Amino acid sequence: MTDTNTEHSELRAVRTNGIYNPKQRTYDANVVLFEGDTVYETRDDIPNDVPAVAHHDGYAIPGLVDAHSHATIRPWEGDQISQLGADRTTATVKALNNLSTDLAAGTTTMRLMAEEGYLDVRLAEAEQAGEIESPRLLPSGIHLTPTDGHGMVHTATDGVEEVRRRIRENMREGATHTKFFATGGVSSDTGSPGQSQYSREEVQMIVEETHRHEKHVATHAHGGAGAQLAIDEGVDTIEHASLFTDEEIDMLDGSDQYVVGNFAIGSHPRGIEAGDGDNPAIMAKLRESREKSAEAWRKILDADLNVAIGTDSMHGFMHYEAETLVELGATPERALNAATLDAARAIQRADHVGSLEPGKQGDLVLLDDDPTGNIGTLEQPAGVFKDGVEVA
Ligand SMILES: [Zn+2]
Repeated sequence: MTDTNTEHSELRAVRTNGIYNPKQRTYDANVVLFEGDTVYETRDDIPNDVPAVAHHDGYAIPGLVDAHSHATIRPWEGDQISQLGADRTTATVKALNNLSTDLAAGTTTMRLMAEEGYLDVRLAEAEQAGEIESPRLLPSGIHLTPTDGHGMVHTATDGVEEVRRRIRENMREGATHTKFFATGGVSSDTGSPGQSQYSREEVQMIVEETHRHEKHVATHAHGGAGAQLAIDEGVDTIEHASLFTDEEIDMLDGSDQYVVGNFAIGSHPRGIEAGDGDNPAIMAKLRESREKSAEAWRKILDADLNVAIGTDSMHGFMHYEAETLVELGATPERALNAATLDAARAIQRADHVGSLEPGKQGDLVLLDDDPTGNIGTLEQPAGVFKDGVEVA
């Protein structure tokens, strides 16, 4: 580590019993120094001339990176597709409350998976301007789904030329990635979770046009033909993967693509069950996907694929996603990485977030217990720093 010198008058220190380094998968320092909104360095002690902004008798991890969420949705209120189409004032008020819940629970960066009317892009701009209490947001703009597809709210995108135009419109507005639906889903009764929603030509255009803009493609896919087509065409992240079999896992073996797990929405009582328990078609799909998802994810972890986690709108539930990953066979360190550095890699922001390295954003979560021994300690952060400032 470099020596601190007095030119850096803005330095502030946070001292703990251990700062988790996802690259080493262990604690390799006790103190982090912030300079402005970024990390200056990590080290063992506080230099004489640097003020301490926190002494915490516990541990610190990098700020959590939620690789998949939706600002406006609350699964426990049911009918998520209608929620996406709610009037803009209602949707915005809900989003602001949801995002402040996420931030207080330790999420400092969040990739959003689409809204109608570019609400996600506007929220990301408001966060950047310091107007709202929220994790840093990566918006996708309008998601791509066909006329008869899962996720269809007001806007459908059909055919190669419409796909190209939609992606260009999203990029013009400020999207950081493309979100498209490769398969049906669990939270609506439209399309089966394995069936391919788009033709190969359409998927090729999604990948080609997004990559041409030097952005990445996030793919809603539970498994089967739709997932396989997307993997084959080179999408960057595959979301949910709840019906993956050996076929999809073999296709991803050795690839740099990421699989993103979302568990709370399907298995926690506050998830889809709370909102759509009276819809027999949705509940039948949910029961089927719960069993298969656990089986699929044990295999995904066993095969050592690249994994990240996200709450899929279960605001404040990153702890549950990490705990579930451990229950399914991951070490606590792997689960911590899936919630920090590996999530940052999945969303292509590892140069800025995901670990406490010099020059990265000053985002960290203070914990009372050692999460490598007790992953459950993630549920109650003792403090949250974003951009070097304590925000919760
Ligand atoms: Zn989602």
